[in-house]
Amino acid sequence: MSHPNVVESLSALELFADFDSERLERLVERGQSCQVDSNVVLFHEGDEGDILYLILDGHVSVVTRQDPDKVYTLGAGDVIGEIALLDGLPRTATVKTNVACQLFRLSRENLEAFLEVEPAFAFGLMKVMNKKIRASLGRERQLNASLKSANQELERLNLTLESLVEKKTEQLRKAIEDLRSMVERDPLTGVYNRRKFDELLENLIAQQNRMSLIMLDVDHFKRLNDTHGHQAGDRVLMQVAAVSEEVLADNQYLARYGGEEFGIILEGVELDKALEIAESIRNSIQSHHFSVRDIPPGHVCASLGVATFPGQAQDVPSLIEAADKALYRAKENGRNRVEVAEV
Ligand code: GH3
Ligand code: MG
Ligand code: MG
Repeated sequence: MSHPNVVESLSALELFADFDSERLERLVERGQSCQVDSNVVLFHEGDEGDILYLILDGHVSVVTRQDPDKVYTLGAGDVIGEIALLDGLPRTATVKTNVACQLFRLSRENLEAFLEVEPAFAFGLMKVMNKKIRASLGRERQLNASLKSANQELERLNLTLESLVEKKTEQLRKAIEDLRSMVERDPLTGVYNRRKFDELLENLIAQQNRMSLIMLDVDHFKRLNDTHGHQAGDRVLMQVAAVSEEVLADNQYLARYGGEEFGIILEGVELDKALEIAESIRNSIQSHHFSVRDIPPGHVCASLGVATFPGQAQDVPSLIEAADKALYRAKENGRNRVEVAEV
């Protein structure tokens, strides 16, 4: 039986460019040509099926459940259904005609039989499938590229977030530091304040730690204020604190006790060593070149009283009182000197 129309349609396809009509006639005998209306589903994704379709005329749309928004169109010369036919698994997509189509159907059995006599057709099929695979690889690459750029954007956002968190943490750390400084430091001199002084002293005595206490009072400070002004007085106080602190080691704390009076806690320091430190502070203040206008070297000096725990006092008030009394004696004995508490 001759099928001139079908043979003609097939011969127009690239897939059969090398086939003469006799060979095409052999193919046509094994399959069926059919006319399918528009909007007809040839098969659904997941269907069983072993029919291969060749599109002779018209075009169809191919959709998968995984990516329902992506619709692929196949037209004359394209092959449909070859994947399920080759791997024996259900259909991988749903195929529907877009317009009235002329199709050529071939069952697996007939395809195998035809391939036996026409291995060249296998090569043609491979070419068609290769084109499809390349197209799907292209789509995958595109998808990978958008994924990559989305990832990069995410990484960039992460970095921004990290640096923001870092900045906020730093601000918080600074705020906490400022707050702590406000709570325990004297704003003028930067040394510990009276509150912190009391706390340190209480803690050390509660733990029965051996220590010494120095009370320091700047001599004739009222006169200095009156002569050079209150601001000059402030600068002198700042420098007295700085000079005194330079003499101190770790575990030795300088605090502004009030006005022009300072307290120095010497943790673990016995009386002899405490006297040495007091003398060193007195000397440093007296020999310091104060960078305050009109105040010559040797003009500023201080008196110091030293007491030790537990040797000369057994609690906080009596230790402060003992050091204060020694300071008072230093004033009485001519100022710019160190006196030790009497037991
Ligand atoms: P003495 O040698 O006996 O200690 O005499 P003094 O003048 O140092 O003692 P007095 O207690 O009579 O005067 C202390 C002065 O310290 C009075 C006060 O105005 C001044 N003073 C207290 N606090 C500050 C301060 O923060 N800045 C300044 N510039 N002066 C202060
Ligand atoms: Mg004074
Ligand atoms: Mg005083």
